Amino acid sequence: MTKIAMTTPLVEMDGDEMTRIIWQMIKDELICPFVDLKTEYYDLGLENRNATDDMVTIESAEATQRLGVAVKCATITPNAARMDEYDLKQMWKSPNGTIRAMLDGTVFRTPINAAGIEPCVRNWVKPITIARHAYGDVYKNAEIRVPGPGKVELVYTGEDGTEIRELVHEYDGAGVAQGMHNLDASIASFATSCFEFALDTKQDLWFATKDTISKKYDHRFKDIFQEIYDDQYAERFEAAGIEYFYTLIDDAVARVMKADGGFIWACKNYDGDVMSDMVSSAFGSLAMMTSVLVSPAGVYEYEAAHGTVQRHYYKHLEGKETSTNSVATIFAWSGALRKRGELDGLPELMAFADRLEAATLDTIEAGEMTGDLARITTLENPTTLSTDEFIKAIARRLAA
Ligand code: NAD
Repeated sequence: MTKIAMTTPLVEMDGDEMTRIIWQMIKDELICPFVDLKTEYYDLGLENRNATDDMVTIESAEATQRLGVAVKCATITPNAARMDEYDLKQMWKSPNGTIRAMLDGTVFRTPINAAGIEPCVRNWVKPITIARHAYGDVYKNAEIRVPGPGKVELVYTGEDGTEIRELVHEYDGAGVAQGMHNLDASIASFATSCFEFALDTKQDLWFATKDTISKKYDHRFKDIFQEIYDDQYAERFEAAGIEYFYTLIDDAVARVMKADGGFIWACKNYDGDVMSDMVSSAFGSLAMMTSVLVSPAGVYEYEAAHGTVQRHYYKHLEGKETSTNSVATIFAWSGALRKRGELDGLPELMAFADRLEAATLDTIEAGEMTGDLARITTLENPTTLSTDEFIKAIARRLAA
């Protein structure tokens, strides 16, 4: 069999623990037998990040800017326990944070639907993609515990000395106060990434804030989205047959519960933090959730939304059988291959990505799945497969 050719390499970011094991299996069983795989390989495993003083993370992000498409394995974000476990020189920062900051991107998380793994919300027949603005607001706030009577003010001092002063509150007794900020530039790149991703995936884009209450802060978000939409996207959205829809956050929540899905929901930082966990748990499982970082410059980095599945890895090291779900990692690869095919004009590569996803879903829908899904499926008598057996079951369908 001749393998499907690639022209431009993918940026391959390897990772840690159980997902690193799965990574190799996916390449060996599901990709390399069919595709003449070209990648520029970066080992983001914690040992190599430590050995390279984390330069490898920066180099992988630079390669992504240069080549346009990356696929990333889950990685450990070090904490105190990992400092000892890996004998680290430093508590290196989260690679996802470093890459996101360098690409200035927005993360889009989408559940993977399979018959038999039903969302708790019956009417969600299509996926709901959450886009979370990952800068500012309460995550970069300044807070005061107000000790007693007195006043709190917000003061802006311009470089030329101009001053804007706003009373927050006159306190009769103790209380709390908080100052938050955001930046026009960050809101604009968030908006641009959202509009680009909506066009790319041909889905409507929803955005919501509380601009009726927050007449300057939230209103600025609403205005920036609308200005960018009117100037750069209105015609392209119309041509693609998709809509940009703005509403209040409470109205958005009510509508989402009644909707059938199939749209992107752009959220301010806090709303996205809260809503992405609600949507992912209602759709079934973290292991059935993909994640793609899209930069306003049109650079894409695909990954699974879950972590390195540490507990399964320790079992694996003890030589015990594991049943780790590889679906989100497989879809990270298929997403990256499809995007590479699209950018390079390789329809065969795009068709392969579709076949890989279909073979994965067919396997689950035939009742062959990993333990996490077997526990929640509505299919009768599912067969629980090990990590390795599940990937091999997909490979058989792919080869057929
Ligand atoms: P995790 O996602 O690895 O696991 C959370 C829970 O979900 C566990 O109970 C696990 O058993 C289950 N789970 C997750 N993915 C699964 C899968 N594919 N199959 C079966 N069950 C699955 O998150 P965690 O335990 O909080 O973190 C483990 C490590 O992963 C940490 O070191 C953390 O820093 C890292 N992490 C990385 C990323 C990333 O690279 N994007 C994201 C989150 C966590």
